[in-house]
Amino acid sequence: MPANLKPGATIGILGGGQLGRMLALAAARLGLRCHIYSPEKDSCAFEVVKASTCATYDDERALMRFAAAVDVVTYEFENVPAKTAALLSRRKAVLPDPKVLEITQDRLIEKNFIAELGIATAPYAAVHSASQLAAAIETVGLPAVLKTRQFGYDGKGQATIGKASDPAAAWRKLRNVPCILEGFIGFEREVSLVAARGGDGKVECFDVTENEHRDHILKISRVPAKVPAPLAAEAQRTATRIAKAFDYVGVLAVEMFVVKRGRIRTLLVNEIAPRVHNSGHWTIDGATVSQFEQHIRAVAGWPLAKPLRLGRVEMTNLIGPEVNEAAAWLTVPGASLHLYGKGEPRAGRKMGHVTRVWPAR
Ligand code: AMP
Repeated sequence: MPANLKPGATIGILGGGQLGRMLALAAARLGLRCHIYSPEKDSCAFEVVKASTCATYDDERALMRFAAAVDVVTYEFENVPAKTAALLSRRKAVLPDPKVLEITQDRLIEKNFIAELGIATAPYAAVHSASQLAAAIETVGLPAVLKTRQFGYDGKGQATIGKASDPAAAWRKLRNVPCILEGFIGFEREVSLVAARGGDGKVECFDVTENEHRDHILKISRVPAKVPAPLAAEAQRTATRIAKAFDYVGVLAVEMFVVKRGRIRTLLVNEIAPRVHNSGHWTIDGATVSQFEQHIRAVAGWPLAKPLRLGRVEMTNLIGPEVNEAAAWLTVPGASLHLYGKGEPRAGRKMGHVTRVWPAR
């Protein structure tokens, strides 16, 4: 049920991190209000909204009050418990549909979903016991990456198994929880495609973005990605097919590996993020509409904009203590600084980002 909100209406957002903060800022520009629901007291999104709820995701009374106070509900992270989303959806539209969460919260279900669409992924197999790991290695081969089926992010919940390493040690490292084994992909580059789908089914894609990770955390995104035009078109088709298969409303990101065999390049889908994504932050300063505004438009039932890129763009994350040097960016020509207002700059914590635009002439 598309919401079709009037200006002044309130969008409820589950999750209070920087993604929620940037969604709320985009909503404010369109005359829409946001109400952030987050269990963490120091959520950086609380600071930019008038209404917020700090309560756990199983606090039914707080959830019911939240549902009563908002016109539509969305989320900024994918580990919202299925029960929370289901409870809210009985009172208000939850977009994207909570069934998307059930698929994307579990790497095995997600990979099966992608494979059933006929979209290529790394070879994979389920691993639910130490003995199944040996069988999975037979199927997938080595080297391989063992990943927990749930709650993995920024490389957490992963262990690489090399030809000379002990698979049992990887299984123990991940604490005997249900896993998926994936063939290790010697990719040429990593790219992502951020797309929005409106309530009317129309899809608008941003340009393919090239991503560089350090210590498993996204460090730099560059646009345009160095990929041939037919591959870029394929990435857009892939994201569009996934969005359609989910009957998706909002912004999603599809992370992909570019693999080069001989002179042929192909794409393998690694992961789907059912939300705005770090690799789409460049769109705030580098495009005529941002991923955040597209998401707000979609969940509000408003038409999407056609995004136009303003030039060559590079987004750099400020991670942990790097934020202490942020002021140096203030005077760099073409640079826009975004700080998330978080407290302690702990190692690995995303504190802000800088976008540099080299305008197209
Ligand atoms: P993920 O949590 O699945 O997004 O993985 C985090 C990062 O680990 C990716 O961005 C890749 O750099 C790397 N990675 C994940 N899966 C594989 C794989 N099957 N082969 C090679 N590298 C991988």
